[in-house]
Amino acid sequence: MLLFVANWKMNLTRREAAEYVRELSSRIGPVPPAVELAIAPPFTAFDAARDPSARWSLAGQNVASEPAGPFTGEVSARMLAEAGCRFVIVGHSERRSLFGERAGTLALKLARAREEGLVPIYCLGETAEERAAGGTAATLARQAETLRDDPPSAPLVVAYEPIWAIGTGHAAAPEDAAAARRHLLRLLEGRRDLRVLYGGSVAPENASALLELSGMDGFLIGGAGLNPASFAAIAGVGRP
Ligand code: PEP
Repeated sequence: MLLFVANWKMNLTRREAAEYVRELSSRIGPVPPAVELAIAPPFTAFDAARDPSARWSLAGQNVASEPAGPFTGEVSARMLAEAGCRFVIVGHSERRSLFGERAGTLALKLARAREEGLVPIYCLGETAEERAAGGTAATLARQAETLRDDPPSAPLVVAYEPIWAIGTGHAAAPEDAAAARRHLLRLLEGRRDLRVLYGGSVAPENASALLELSGMDGFLIGGAGLNPASFAAIAGVGRP
């Protein structure tokens, strides 16, 4: 099943989220059974971002590495599950680069997500320098190692997000995304329920070619996901 996830990052207040939901509701027709939508709002906007008609589910943008306790500012997997999340994003490049999250922490976050039945959306991708040096495959292999102890039969989403493509307006070429996808499928061989998404400057203008030519199972969408019409168009569920 194709999956399209709008990651709002630190955008949209509860009031703005409610407006977004109204607008998205008016923009989308029936969601085909082969398409799944999710929104990753800030924690404060879960209730406002929820769809009463369940056309999309909710995703956490982050989760604590510990189950509970004196961790000021953290939000646990149990809290996300109780708030109605189906997914949680783990290892987004902004968490890695701005908040110093490393493999050990990310593995703990994956474990916490599993304990609460959340499906991780595990992000990986190379920097521009790694790409220029021909190191994309090695970076993906190193980052995929973090999934070593994740149960292979549990549903998993990985998002290939080349860092040079995030928020730059320069999406990966479909053939490069396709190559990354093939590499990830090899690295994660044996997983029974795996979807590989692409993320990085996906927009209504490039979405259908990227999807078709890369063979990806959907997209993780940042900037364009803040616009309900763009999100609906990218997911192919906009009203004609
Ligand atoms: C992201 O940050 O995960 C992302 C894909 O952002 P954008 O779509 O804005 O490149």
